[in-house]
Amino acid sequence: MTLRPGSGQAHDRAVFLDRDGTLIDEVGYLDRPERVVLYPWSIDAVRLLNRAGLRVVMVTNQSGIARGFFTEAIVDEVHAHIASQLAEGGARIDAYYYCPHHPDGKVEGYAQKCECRKPGRALVDRAVAAFGVDPARSFVVGDRWLDVELAQAVGARGVLVKTGYGVTEIDKPRAHVTADAIVDNLIAASSWILRQC
Ligand SMILES: [Mg+2]
Ligand SMILES: [Zn+2]
Repeated sequence: MTLRPGSGQAHDRAVFLDRDGTLIDEVGYLDRPERVVLYPWSIDAVRLLNRAGLRVVMVTNQSGIARGFFTEAIVDEVHAHIASQLAEGGARIDAYYYCPHHPDGKVEGYAQKCECRKPGRALVDRAVAAFGVDPARSFVVGDRWLDVELAQAVGARGVLVKTGYGVTEIDKPRAHVTADAIVDNLIAASSWILRQC
C-alpha cells in the first residue's frame, strides 16, 4: 500500500492504548516483568489493529517511578516482555510511551507536575511527531475516565473498556467526560474501532 501524507490513509490513525487494566491485568504497581499477564484476547486485539494499518501506541502513567516503587529500567523490561509475547502472536505495538512523573512523588527529577501524565496530552503529541498521526482520526482505549479525558483533550474518540478499573468506573460517571463507546474488553474495542475506519 502506498501512503500519501495527509491523504486519510490508515496510517494517519493511531490507537493510543492504555496498559494496566486494558492490555494486561491490573495488578497495582507492576514492579516485575514476571507479573505481566496479558488478557487472553490482547494479542488478537492488537494484531487486528496492526493488520488494518493503524498505529498502535501505548500511553501509560507509571507514577511508581516517581514514588520510588520501581525504576525506568524495570518499566523498559516490562515493555520488552510484553513486546516479545505480542511478537510470538504476530502482533506489534509501534511505540511504548510512559509518564514516570507524579506531583506527590519522592524521587528527585520525577516528583513534578508534567504535561505527559494522562489526561495530559504530551505522550500523544510525541506520537504525532514520530508517526505523523492525526489525533482527530485516532482513538484512545483505556479502563479509566482519565483515558477518555485524554481522548477528549486531543480530539480523538475515547473507548472505555470494562476490564481493570473499567467495571467500577462506569458506576462513577464524571461530568463532561463522555466515552464514544463502552465495551467489554480490548478485543471489543478493536472491533468497534475498525467499524469506524
Ligand atoms: Mg489502566
Ligand atoms: Zn509525566
